[in-house]
Amino acid sequence: MNKIMLGNEAIARGAYEAGVNVATGYPGTPSTEIMQFLSQHKEIYAEWSVNEKVAMDAAIGASLGGVRTLVTMKHAGFNVATDPFYPICFMGINGGLVLVCSDDVGAVSSPTEQDTRIYAKLFHIPMLEPSDSQEAKDFTALAFELSERFDTPVFLRTTNGVSHSMGIVQMGSRQEKRKDPFDKTSPKFRPQGGVHPTIMHKNTHERLTALEAFSNETELNRIEWGDKRVGIISSGSPYQYVKEILPEASFLKLGLTYPLPKALIKDFAAQVEDLYVIEDLEPFLEEQIKSMGIELKGQDLRPNVGALSTEILSECLTDALAVFGKKIPERRPPLPNVIMRFPTLCAGCLHLATYYAIRRVQRKTKEKDVVIMGDIGCYSLGIAAPHNMLSCAFAMGSGIGSAHGLSHAVQGNGDKTIVTYLGDSTFLHAGMPALLNAVYNQSNITVIIADNRTTAMTGGQEHAGTGVTLQGNQYSPVQIPEIVKSLGVQSIHEVDPFDYKETFNALKNAFEYRGVSVVIGTRACRMFPDKIKEEPYKVLLDSCNGCGMCFSIYCPGIIVSEEKTDKGKNKAAIDPFVCTGCSFCVQICPVDAIILE
Ligand code: SF4
Ligand code: SF4
Repeated sequence: MNKIMLGNEAIARGAYEAGVNVATGYPGTPSTEIMQFLSQHKEIYAEWSVNEKVAMDAAIGASLGGVRTLVTMKHAGFNVATDPFYPICFMGINGGLVLVCSDDVGAVSSPTEQDTRIYAKLFHIPMLEPSDSQEAKDFTALAFELSERFDTPVFLRTTNGVSHSMGIVQMGSRQEKRKDPFDKTSPKFRPQGGVHPTIMHKNTHERLTALEAFSNETELNRIEWGDKRVGIISSGSPYQYVKEILPEASFLKLGLTYPLPKALIKDFAAQVEDLYVIEDLEPFLEEQIKSMGIELKGQDLRPNVGALSTEILSECLTDALAVFGKKIPERRPPLPNVIMRFPTLCAGCLHLATYYAIRRVQRKTKEKDVVIMGDIGCYSLGIAAPHNMLSCAFAMGSGIGSAHGLSHAVQGNGDKTIVTYLGDSTFLHAGMPALLNAVYNQSNITVIIADNRTTAMTGGQEHAGTGVTLQGNQYSPVQIPEIVKSLGVQSIHEVDPFDYKETFNALKNAFEYRGVSVVIGTRACRMFPDKIKEEPYKVLLDSCNGCGMCFSIYCPGIIVSEEKTDKGKNKAAIDPFVCTGCSFCVQICPVDAIILE
């Protein structure tokens, strides 16, 4: 049966058909949907782990237990998971173990852009890169075969171009596969006491040699002969783009991109006149092929940041187009009447209310310079205008640690209040050890935990504080205030961010506290897991004096009225379709001009 599938759905299907029993992961664009599709199969145990390292630990344990195991994450998450992944790449596996890591090329929803392919070389493991949904399914299933055949984890790398594209996929049936149960007496997984790490290292080099021989033979790497005046080596979604603009050329399409099929590449390069290597981001293929003494054109022609497209590549490959009498196609004109907008927080979002309260405290305590170290989540939008609230954001949970470091750097400078701001999922991901460190090392910071009861940025996934697992099991959720207390924090304020006065007072007291203070603001996200749309409010234009206080909440529901005051000031209005009825602006208006419809 055929079905049109998102690349991520196809990966989940491939894992299902390959007989995967356990799947772990942490949400992150563009990988999130893989786990959501996998969780629908009753034959598979699937979980959102609390972070990528724990997901990797759990996946390794499941592989040792003899079952086929998939672990998923985005590029930034892989950086978190590398610690346990490195040794298992050298020790080998039991049940097939496949890592799917999706790179957010173009940093559509990430603080960084990263080419994770480089890890394949560092970790000495095979890497597969599908170019479409069918390959995403087929390569995933094949990855488990390779994992067990070569006794290695296999890295399936995708990008937004594959994970978030749709294509026709031919589906197959599920095969049940199980290896022997874990042998606790085996020396294989016991470095030093079992197999010495240098022996493991030697074994991985031998494994790479065997994999390279496979790479030269497998149909994963295939030559598509066309006109030999132009030869193109490519993989992943860039292959699709070049194939579309230069279908006449000869192609070496690489599906197994580490280790490279050197003999096949030499053979292909020897038969074409001009050789191009087209890939996105770093010159990963290019540098390896150049090191074989092969001349080629590559990153000197193409951009090495951001996502490629047929339009971008057409402009880069003018010489190759000219060989076939082609010119650069005209760029599509920009769509008319499209207004450029900043990304914004949703109407009635707890972050808008909390940011407003922080700004008011800052105004009231002018002698203190408040520095807010940010973190990763919806609230990262607070870095941008109009909020300009956060001074930085690095990685999940790193706000507390960096605030702690900054507080020690400015020690003795009583003019500074060091604050950090993070969400519930991020706190449970990597914030807890950092908070413990801040308490242990006597920091002087305020930690604001904005608990919206979900992992909102990636689409509302469950986490340990929600009381629901990925597969819908109910349990008693962990309580963030209790965790904070148990980590040794003495000054804890629990507030409702929609209660302006309560939040203002809590923040003010927390900022004045010497030591580690924590403010926990709890209000459900207005979008996930269910949309919250209460009765909208409206502005009584006769009462509004145009003071502008409500505008500075930056709620998208509050708009400029067509009416002005006698002094020419803009009056406010509320868009009833956007307002979610949170009531926060009602508390801000000094003349009670905001009421329920
Ligand atoms: S009540 Fe006010 S602040 Fe809340 S969503 Fe509506 S317009 Fe925005
Ligand atoms: S805060 Fe009240 S008075 Fe001021 S602009 Fe808004 S609605 Fe008008």
